[in-house]
Amino acid sequence: MISSRIGLSKSATGVSEHLDLWAHLVRDLTHGHTVDFIICDEAQFYRSEQIDQLARIVDELHIDVFCFGIMADFRTKLFPGSKRLVELCDRMETLQVSPLCWCGQRATHNARVVNGEMIVEGSQVVVGDTGADKDAVHYEVLCRAHHRLRAPRSVANSTLSPEALPDDPGPALTADGS
Ligand SMILES: [Zn+2]
Repeated sequence: MISSRIGLSKSATGVSEHLDLWAHLVRDLTHGHTVDFIICDEAQFYRSEQIDQLARIVDELHIDVFCFGIMADFRTKLFPGSKRLVELCDRMETLQVSPLCWCGQRATHNARVVNGEMIVEGSQVVVGDTGADKDAVHYEVLCRAHHRLRAPRSVANSTLSPEALPDDPGPALTADGS
């Protein structure tokens, strides 16, 4: 089941790594279901074989497939599913809502933060905690420069003189005080 903040909800299929999307859909269709289009969320977690199955659905069944997700992990490496999507997709769009790094620059890179420290090694998938426990793993989007400097917000806030970017306004670094 998926639901939105405005109260809409709709049943959905959970995609495990062993689910054959092509076979699943064909089975649905032969049981009389109609499928107008398919929406795949968190598509970066799909296996590349599953992305191939989606392409076959588009080409042979003429059903549109819309995939949503992120491109790269906290190590700046493409997720296998995202990589295959880039290779096969007909059209790719970057969402217009662009998040900002704590410095105000456009945030383009994902950081994994554990105990306030940015981590650049480890397994590709660790689900983050959105709760208040600050020891938990969480994810933060940073500009490329602060990703390179391994400077998430917590580091910027706890350091008196964070390594400034060349075009950094300086005092505005921690202007929001959070
Ligand atoms: Zn930044």
